Amino acid sequence: MAAHRQPTIAAIGEFGFLRRLLPRLPAGPDVVLGPGDDCAVVRFGNRNVLVTTDALVEHVHFERSWMKPRQIGRKAYLVNASDIASMGGRPRFCVVATAAPADFPAADLEQIHRGLAQAAAETGARVVGGNLSRARELSLSVTLLGAAPRRPVRRSGARSGDLLFVTGTLGEAAAGLRRLQRDSAARGAFVRRFLEPRPRLRAGELLAAEGVASAMIDISDGLLQDLRHLCAASGVGAEVEAGAVPCPPRLGRRALGLALAGGEDYELLFTVRQRDLKRLATLHSRLGCRLTRIGRIVSKSAGLQVLDARANEMNIEELGFDHFARARG
Ligand SMILES: [Mg+2]
Repeated sequence: MAAHRQPTIAAIGEFGFLRRLLPRLPAGPDVVLGPGDDCAVVRFGNRNVLVTTDALVEHVHFERSWMKPRQIGRKAYLVNASDIASMGGRPRFCVVATAAPADFPAADLEQIHRGLAQAAAETGARVVGGNLSRARELSLSVTLLGAAPRRPVRRSGARSGDLLFVTGTLGEAAAGLRRLQRDSAARGAFVRRFLEPRPRLRAGELLAAEGVASAMIDISDGLLQDLRHLCAASGVGAEVEAGAVPCPPRLGRRALGLALAGGEDYELLFTVRQRDLKRLATLHSRLGCRLTRIGRIVSKSAGLQVLDARANEMNIEELGFDHFARARG
């Protein structure tokens, strides 16, 4: 049989798979923005609508022993809301496909969906449908539609000379995940960051409405990985100042590695033209979160660099990037 020589998904990787698939998807005038960003933008009449989907899968993204059922539902929704935030949109309607083992407690499944519906309501969205099927492990696939701003912020708008910003702080969620992996009963602020993402909807919406962000992405895979995506889409490089990355000192020696490569932060990473810096400063107090300048966009040929306090390039592998990349499902 020749079939066993075919490469597996693991060998190709998520992004390799997308590269194979995407060129074959049909485009059209009603597809304002096709695949490759945090959301697609589609047109209904004269309305632009954001569409995104993401799944939460047991044993891949979480273990049931880590979270209350309500928290599982909340997180399944909130990671999608973060993708709407990164385009500057507003969540509106979602559907959810649930898969669960036949012996899964009905009361727990109800709690999961209560949590999901509550998180949706808190962000102004409603659950309008779904489906339940049997599977070996629990999974929740949410598709979320959002109202698009007049100019959705894409990954592709960064230009050399733009400055690089992040909202909030980075690394706690990844630290929380590692605690849970060692002890499923672990609790505390870091674990909470992992269990309950807080999508930056207000910040995303304001940055888009005011036209201040030239490019934006939410940080789900880790700062460096998501910055790579933004740089690739924009055809630029970037310099990150390690000392500027907002990671809590409480994380100790591992702080920088967790902040750069840990993931699950659901903060916004965005770029701003120098001429718009004053407008960003004016907007800051209304964003509802901390804002940190962590570097700048440079030409594509310079690649992606992390600089130490003396502006020397740091070895990204030594920061634990590869290790963290392997540690995640
Ligand atoms: Mg995203």
